[in-house]
Amino acid sequence: MTDTLSSYLASIRKKDPDQPEFQQAAEEVLTSLWPFLQDNPAYLSQGILERLLEPERSITFRVPWTDDQGKVHVNRGYRVQMNSAIGPYKGGLRFHPSVNLGVLKFLAFEQVFKNALTTLPMGGGKGGSDFDPKGKSDSEVMRFCQSFMTELSRHIGANLDIPAGDIGVGAREVGYMYGQYKRMRNEFTSVLTGKGQTYGGSLMRPEATGFGCVYFAEQMLKSRDKSLDGLRVVISGAGNVAQYAALKVIQLGGLVLSLSDSGGTLHFADGLDEATWKKVVKLKNQERGRLEALDGQPGVQFIANSTPWHLSCDLALPCATQNELDEDDARKLIDNGCIAVAEGANMPCTLAAADLFLEHKTLYAPGKAANAGGVAVSGLEMSQNAMRLSWTEEEVDQKLHEIMESIHNACSHYGKDEEGFINYVKGANIAGFVKVADAMLAQGIV
Ligand code: NDP
Repeated sequence: MTDTLSSYLASIRKKDPDQPEFQQAAEEVLTSLWPFLQDNPAYLSQGILERLLEPERSITFRVPWTDDQGKVHVNRGYRVQMNSAIGPYKGGLRFHPSVNLGVLKFLAFEQVFKNALTTLPMGGGKGGSDFDPKGKSDSEVMRFCQSFMTELSRHIGANLDIPAGDIGVGAREVGYMYGQYKRMRNEFTSVLTGKGQTYGGSLMRPEATGFGCVYFAEQMLKSRDKSLDGLRVVISGAGNVAQYAALKVIQLGGLVLSLSDSGGTLHFADGLDEATWKKVVKLKNQERGRLEALDGQPGVQFIANSTPWHLSCDLALPCATQNELDEDDARKLIDNGCIAVAEGANMPCTLAAADLFLEHKTLYAPGKAANAGGVAVSGLEMSQNAMRLSWTEEEVDQKLHEIMESIHNACSHYGKDEEGFINYVKGANIAGFVKVADAMLAQGIV
């Protein structure tokens, strides 16, 4: 690689032409870091960028499992161990048909910066499979998880690599995988986070990503002397992150106008109330149903095949998946008066959408800052396991608050311009980068 930005980007495209999500994440980070790197050329030495862009290790493996009819299926399993400069690899597992090496590399790359921002000693990794838990029985999911963990267990450990949940991997899947790991290793260690509370899980871990995202949005609004009280909020997704983001917005006096899933958008014209929120949670977590089933409930309308971005709002929280909000969506949000966007999901906004928000001075927080609350409380789960104690809900919530505030401060420190506008993309990327790069420089060429 030579040392111009365009040559770095061209080299990434050439090296991994079939990994568009990884290219996108790398382009976002390198572009926003570039002026800082020019001013601090030590960070362009010792192959820091090249090493950050190359996983320390990528593991691909076969996952055979048998369905309820006795038919054998084979899925592909992965673990990308991206960077361990500041701590053991840490990052979730995703089970979704769209999973491939490029998607997991983008997620693992983002995770390195996010974990550094939490102030906790965690490196970055990500894994998963193209297995789709939707429509599978509990026994099928269990057999898949056991087969997946049988191979993954060789590559992880409480001081080596600690996975957690992500899309398609919730409490059920973490439980099955943890059970299999424990059985194979014959030891009770903190090898997965997001565990159930009866076997080492932390209070507030299920809530952490969604709550943390809203705490971050509160800080963003505060920088403009605003609060969530009375604000209209659109949220996409209806999974773990979206559910708890919605609950916290309601608790803080905001009006939740939408949730969504891959079938469409559920619109709450007068705002989502806690009783309807409970119905959504039961539908998605217990019955594993589709949002469409709630169409026609009082104040609830389902809009098929639609995302929520056309709805007029003050704050948008994309909490479903990558690239779910494009430039046209961003324009609609801006035109309809949206003043802030905080990403609960990883990379939900396309590069063009993100650029448009920044151009219009919309408050815009990338996932690596706004959704870091989940991995932060996973880090707290590891600490509690190591100390063999459990903190109360209030203690964990207090720590989550402090961590989200400190991430906001780090973003402001590196991202605020002369006019006081905070570029959270720049701030988060520089703050995360400096911590990891300093550790890499100290540890030599490894
Ligand atoms: P869940 O599996 O609990 O929920 C995912 C939600 O997103 C579902 O409502 C799902 O709808 C929807 N969705 C998934 N893929 C698509 C798609 N292609 N188009 C439209 N909707 C889609 O996952 P999480 O809530 O855990 O994760 C959501 C996002 O947050 C991801 O980007 C994840 O990486 C990120 N994240 C999660 C953390 C966590 O602690 N869980 C931590 C930090 C980030 P459907 O059911 O129809 O598929």
